[in-house]
Amino acid sequence: MDIHEYQAKERFRSVGIPVPPGRVVSTPEEAEVAAEEYGGTVVVKAQVHSGGRGKAGGVKLAEDPAKARDYASQILGMDINGLSVDKVLITPAEDIDTEAYVGVVIDRKAQAATFMVSPEGGIDIEEVKRTNPKAIRKLSIDPRYGMLPHQAYWLANFLYDDPNLADQARKIIAQLYDAFVSSGAEMAEINPLITTPAGEVKAIDAKMSIDDSELFRRPDIAEMRDTSSEPPSETKAREAGLSYHKLDGDVGCCVNGAGLAMATMDLVAHYEGNPANFLDIGGSSNPDKVVAALEIITSDPNVKVILFNIFGGITRCDDVANGIIEAIEKIDIELPIVIRLTGTNEDRALEILEDAGLSAYTSMDEVVKKAVELAGAA
Ligand code: GDP
Ligand code: MN
Repeated sequence: MDIHEYQAKERFRSVGIPVPPGRVVSTPEEAEVAAEEYGGTVVVKAQVHSGGRGKAGGVKLAEDPAKARDYASQILGMDINGLSVDKVLITPAEDIDTEAYVGVVIDRKAQAATFMVSPEGGIDIEEVKRTNPKAIRKLSIDPRYGMLPHQAYWLANFLYDDPNLADQARKIIAQLYDAFVSSGAEMAEINPLITTPAGEVKAIDAKMSIDDSELFRRPDIAEMRDTSSEPPSETKAREAGLSYHKLDGDVGCCVNGAGLAMATMDLVAHYEGNPANFLDIGGSSNPDKVVAALEIITSDPNVKVILFNIFGGITRCDDVANGIIEAIEKIDIELPIVIRLTGTNEDRALEILEDAGLSAYTSMDEVVKKAVELAGAA
């Protein structure tokens, strides 16, 4: 789950990272009032779950409160990478000498939280990786020991030659690790970490993504979820208890079990088709879940065919067949549907589907071939 910059900054402050103050507002008038209270130049920053807001025009320096109001009215309602802005952060502007990058993610290969730091901050770190990989230093942290003092120094010394700046940075790096672990994060990033002419090191941007599986024991963080900032299909899937990921293809897949869902996508690709999604409806044959799954799949305009692939173990195929029919009656579906069911009560299931005029298969190979063919013909 992504959280907003202002929320990540709260987490950062709570572990002691120096972060300028800020106030979140949702109207130009409130922006003006906040700018008046801070006095001087402020930054007006779009609060959306997207990087590169600066490039998209979502970060503006306002010299006076009237400008802050104008920029807020431009930025509120703006579309940034497909996300609409309904809140802006007003924060006093800092004087910047240098911009560095500090980030930590769960690295699956290293099986550990892994830091990446670079003196080339303020820009997309992926770009630094491509163009100047030597400007990045990486370090994985052994979770048994946590971050050790020399490790924080080693990273900080890569950013700054000046020992005063390096000393501030190593504290911030250790604090970022604290924030990362205590928040159950899978990613935390300061970009840029700035130095000021007065010789201070500060975090002026903050990004954080929380591991969904950590949320149940952190209700205060779970509350930070902003459903207006996620694709509606993902909200709907989560609320219906479905595991869904949108992809770029045109074969809509509805499968029970994550392993079978992956195998289905592989087979679609094997027959030179393109899956439109990963969707695991889980072990239940609850028609409500099937309805939700179909609504999500059909809301993707790229989908040309719907492919069900159900393996009935504890789930009974006849229950699923009834669920599919009930679902199709509830929502209008123009798209061709092909269904493969095998396992417990498959004979009854095939009868039910055939009676309803639906084409059903027991062979996974055949049904996938058929689905790819229909997608190609559409
Ligand atoms: P992002 O584009 O979404 O990563 O948003 P950032 O918060 O990182 O802001 C983008 C850029 O705007 C930064 O790299 C800075 O160059 C600039 N910027 C942001 N805040 C300030 C500030 O307080 N003072 C100054 N001078 N520039 C700022
Ligand atoms: Mn940034």
